[in-house]
Formats: sequence, structure tokens, C-alpha cells
Amino acid sequence: MRRCEEIAALLYQYIDRELSDEEYREVRQHLDECPPCKDVFQLEENVLTVVAKCCRNVSAPQNLIDRVRRLSAEHTE
Ligand SMILES: [Zn+2]
Repeated sequence: MRRCEEIAALLYQYIDRELSDEEYREVRQHLDECPPCKDVFQLEENVLTVVAKCCRNVSAPQNLIDRVRRLSAEHTE
């Protein structure tokens, strides 16, 4: 099972459908099992769907990674 940081790094590709089938399944499974990541994912998906329609301005996911790290830290310990 991948860690939250890895999932966060893959989320943009996941949303863009650029992952392999295996990676896609891993992200999907992680989101099912990790509520903090799922919350972030749903937020990002909404944002990126809007962005993708106009300019596809996908910047480095550092903010997303930081957010997931913070949320998952609260979630675990
Ligand atoms: Zn997670």
C-alpha cells in the first residue's frame, strides 16, 4: 500500500487518467481506505475539472502534498 505522500503526488495524473491500470487501482484503493486523502482528492478533482476546461494550468502538487501530509498526520496520530 502506498503512503499518503505518494498518493498525493499521483492524484493529478489520476484525475487526468494518465496512470497505468495498476497505479490507478492503487490510488483508488488508497482513497477508499484513507478518508483524509479522499477529502483532498474530491476537492482537487473539483478544482482541476474546472481548470482543465479552460487552461490546464496544472502546477507542482506541493501544496497538495503538504495538505495531505497534514491531514493524514491528524488522522493517524
Ligand atoms: Zn492517505
